Amino acid sequence: MRNLYGNESVKIKWKGRIISIQPRTRVWRYVTDNRTHYHIGYNIFLEVTTDEGVESFAVAISEKQQLKEAFRIGDIVSGTAWTKKYPEREYANYYRAGALKLLERSTELEETSCPWTGPLQEMEVYEYRGARMLSKSLWKGKCFTCYYATMANVEIQWDFDRDIKKYRFESFCYGPKSCKYYKPGRARSVPYKGRDSALDTGGLDDICTENRAWDD
Ligand code: SF4
Repeated sequence: MRNLYGNESVKIKWKGRIISIQPRTRVWRYVTDNRTHYHIGYNIFLEVTTDEGVESFAVAISEKQQLKEAFRIGDIVSGTAWTKKYPEREYANYYRAGALKLLERSTELEETSCPWTGPLQEMEVYEYRGARMLSKSLWKGKCFTCYYATMANVEIQWDFDRDIKKYRFESFCYGPKSCKYYKPGRARSVPYKGRDSALDTGGLDDICTENRAWDD
């Protein structure tokens, strides 16, 4: 298996302590006419201490794997996974995880208010709730441990005729609109061949989250 840059995609073994679990999502954008979110599993973010210091990485797992193992922040886990075939399309460092093993169960307390770190929501819950744009600095900071935060793999439809897409990563929040930490961050430009970029200023957030009220 080869990626776009000619690198081998190889199977690796990993082990680490979970520092966050978030939904793994894909977003399809077409100017500001459409922003469709797909919910495809979870990203577990891990830390491991080596002779060189603390190393962090993310592994993509399926919903089925998470339902079976019920991973939590603070758990020590191990498994296998593959390096990425298309690095620009996948935020997690490794995917196609297997042989997952819970080595030590966390004794950390779970938060039942923002940022939420208790039992994870299922994919259909994220699907129903819908997402708003979340500031990238918040995603990296206060929101990082929240199971309502995601760093989505985004595909921008840049040319319909030749089906050419551009790829990037964007942060979103599925949490209550009333969350005191929430900030959308800057408007996001959505380019299309031969046109000025359209700007997603948050109007699509209202459409994507129309199923729920301020405190839901
Ligand atoms: S803004 Fe969203 S992701 Fe951040 S803590 Fe609140 S609900 Fe969680």
